[in-house]
Amino acid sequence: MQLNFIANQSVPSASGRTLPVIDPSDGQPFDEIQRSDAADIDAAVRAARACFDGPWSQLSAAERGRLLMALSRKVAEHADELALLEQRDCGKPTKQAKADAAALARYFEFYAGACDKLHGETIPYQSGYSVFTWREPHGVTGHVIPWNYPMQIFGRSVGGALAAGNVSVVKPAEDACLSLIRVAQLAAEVGFPPGAINMVTGYGHEVGDALARHPGIDHISFTGSPKVGTLIQQVAAERHCPVTLELGGKSPQIIFADADIDAALPVVINAIVQNAGQTCSAGSRVLIEQSVYDQVLGRLGQAFAALRVGPAAMDLDVGPLIRKTQLERVHGFLAEAQAAGIPVVAQGQVVADAPADGFFQAPVLLRDVPVTHRLAQEEVFGPVLSAMAFRDEDHAVELANATHFGLVAGVWTENGARQFRMARRVKSGQIFINNYGAGGGVELPFGGYKSSGYGREKGFEALYGFTVLKTVAVRHG
Ligand code: NAD
Repeated sequence: MQLNFIANQSVPSASGRTLPVIDPSDGQPFDEIQRSDAADIDAAVRAARACFDGPWSQLSAAERGRLLMALSRKVAEHADELALLEQRDCGKPTKQAKADAAALARYFEFYAGACDKLHGETIPYQSGYSVFTWREPHGVTGHVIPWNYPMQIFGRSVGGALAAGNVSVVKPAEDACLSLIRVAQLAAEVGFPPGAINMVTGYGHEVGDALARHPGIDHISFTGSPKVGTLIQQVAAERHCPVTLELGGKSPQIIFADADIDAALPVVINAIVQNAGQTCSAGSRVLIEQSVYDQVLGRLGQAFAALRVGPAAMDLDVGPLIRKTQLERVHGFLAEAQAAGIPVVAQGQVVADAPADGFFQAPVLLRDVPVTHRLAQEEVFGPVLSAMAFRDEDHAVELANATHFGLVAGVWTENGARQFRMARRVKSGQIFINNYGAGGGVELPFGGYKSSGYGREKGFEALYGFTVLKTVAVRHG
């Protein structure tokens, strides 16, 4: 049985209610988490505030950095344990789970080094004045985390917030709590004061909503679906609480005829099958120049047919989806594709000995997907790649920008001038030229255009969002 973690104590929810934890590889319950509510959020916010006003404010930036570095090392020491927890909880193949644990350690390492490098400016003003700015922490930051990359998203969001001098109340997704509860315990072991990192589990509409509404939360960082992002904004707007939103994407991989196709194909495939396609920055559309469309699709199809899907511990190309309703959602998209006559180029195979109740979906490659179809517009959040052809550069830009999203784009071409033009013209928070970084790049600011959200996490840039700028003007004559 997993407990909440508040003020460095493992505690049950006030109501005593719990939720089962399901293993996506076999569909069976194997643990329980707390089903918390507003009373637990209130306790966590009080603990956080006491920490912020007390021991946390006594630490210098360098001392905060040392604590973050100690947590980075501790996470690295416990990487296998954390990876196993997340593997069982989220159905991640071993390689992915280990990569996520390593990324968590790296986030804390990066933000440890950043703590004492965040500073304001002096500003030339009228004669007889000295003017400068301070970057002050918001105070208590709330973090609502999705289930697809719990460790990575905790690292980027909470790591940045702590580095900037905030304390945190974290609401992991109800399907993905185990690794994060353990990380909060490890933080206490390395010396984080009680209340610096608080973990409260439960349903989004109960405990997530309570967090967003709590007047003691000074900033909210939300990563998840556009629908819930809208709800959080509405609730936060009532009390003018600042929000950072990392929402979804329908990210294009754009392959020109002059591209190094051999280099592109494995990256394009990985960008949609990594984490079974449950990645906000999944490359879920592939736009291919007409003259090489059939050739590239033929090669992609061969590779898709060879992909193998099975239980997370088998460490195959693809693990299970997170839960049954997610599998049903993907089935719904595929049924619509079939009804619309969208051709299937190829699909992978679920291994014969996969447990019957696991949430497995073979990767599917679709071709000639009309740009207005849901499969070209909405997140499937499964291993489904939609291909379409483009005539020329203008047409590629038009298709790339033809969704409400704008999170990440990949451009594959050897033409240097075109690389820059595409980077300018595609509306997306990140553009990768001849590479693709789904989820990678701790140092690289990340966030969206349009419905993909606003504000930036990752990199040094994130620290600005986790602070309030104060301008001080001194008239000294
Ligand atoms: P979700 O929006 O359903 O849930 C995200 C989190 O919000 C969970 O912790 C959930 O419990 C909580 N939540 C749900 N309802 C809430 C409410 N009313 N108030 C407060 N919190 C609430 O999304 P999901 O299913 O967990 O994740 C999938 C979505 O997240 C996809 O759309 C994906 O693109 C997006 N995502 C984006 C990024 C990014 O960095 N841009 C990263 C990962 C996932």
